[in-house]
Amino acid sequence: MLRSVILAASRSSQVERLVATAPYTRDVVRRFVAGAATDDALRATRGLVDDGLAVTLDHLGEDTVRPEQATATRDEYLKLLKMLGVAGLTPAAEVSVKLSALGQMFDEQLAYDNARAICAAADAAGTTVTLDMEDHTTTDSTLEVLSRLRKDFPSTGAVLQAYLRRTESDCRELSSAGSRVRLCKGAYKEPESVAYQSAREVDKSYVRCMNILMSGDGYPMLATHDPRMIAIGEDRARWFDRGPERFEFQMLYGIRPEEQARLAGEGYTVRTYVPYGDEWYGYLMRRLAERPANLVFFGRALISKK
Ligand SMILES: Cc1cc2nc3c(=O)[nH]c(=O)nc-3n(C[C@H](O)[C@H](O)[C@H](O)COP(=O)(O)OP(=O)(O)OC[C@H]3O[C@@H](n4cnc5c(N)ncnc54)[C@H](O)[C@@H]3O)c2cc1C
Repeated sequence: MLRSVILAASRSSQVERLVATAPYTRDVVRRFVAGAATDDALRATRGLVDDGLAVTLDHLGEDTVRPEQATATRDEYLKLLKMLGVAGLTPAAEVSVKLSALGQMFDEQLAYDNARAICAAADAAGTTVTLDMEDHTTTDSTLEVLSRLRKDFPSTGAVLQAYLRRTESDCRELSSAGSRVRLCKGAYKEPESVAYQSAREVDKSYVRCMNILMSGDGYPMLATHDPRMIAIGEDRARWFDRGPERFEFQMLYGIRPEEQARLAGEGYTVRTYVPYGDEWYGYLMRRLAERPANLVFFGRALISKK
């Protein structure tokens, strides 16, 4: 119920204004977002890479409705990738891209063209791109764009969401050699017709999908903070004899950093998803919806007199 309310608010411009102008919002945002500028993203990446973590960078923004906005997002990624290459931060750092920020909502071909330019820049910088997955109305389009991109850039990664009923089948499709798949639970509000609704059902689906990916020939990226899913991931890595070069764990910037360090210390590949940029609202609201404790933290920051 609370999750539904917060996810509904994530699409409300009135609530956005209220949250964005609250006095201590910035403190909360800083916990989950590296900063507004490209230099902030580079600084955070350097720190994480020095600590033995891999990184995927997300320039915040989604649901773009104007072509020039989509072009500006593309250009920011091109600039970022060049700077990562020059700074020697590739291939440890790659980028995550939302097709809706590149024009998918009004012109799929434009989104493809923009994504293709980003893949070419990543390739030139010696790194990779992963296409984030958004709400279920975009899944087919995103997988279609992925398959076109993979013809020229086979290492382009996909994201599959365990809460969708279709995902086991998508995992089978994408578990072949060379395929990089990030498996997450899913962060959007979805109807029962397409998505499991209870946490238990989603967890069971996550494990089934993980089994398909870990026993397949691709490169699974297990994106979760859930201690049970992580323990099962460790178990499957032993069972299917997957070393650190054949799968990875992924977690979000600012969430369970000690666990990220522990797994990296044990020799696993751990990639931190680092968002940066001004358009943090939708991202922050999804993080709040995931965990009531984050909401308490947010509420405290909003009323804090410090
Ligand atoms: C790298 C990465 C990329 C992602 N990309 C996408 C994407 O492209 N599309 C998409 O829809 N979603 C994406 N997500 C979000 C994902 O779908 C989930 O919404 C999010 O990760 C929460 O699910 P969870 O598996 O972490 O566990 P949850 O089910 O939220 O939590 C399970 C347990 O994990 C632990 N936990 C969770 N959060 C915290 C916390 N803040 N602090 C301490 N413990 C915690 C707690 O023990 C909790 O009980 C991504 C997530 C990650 C990590």
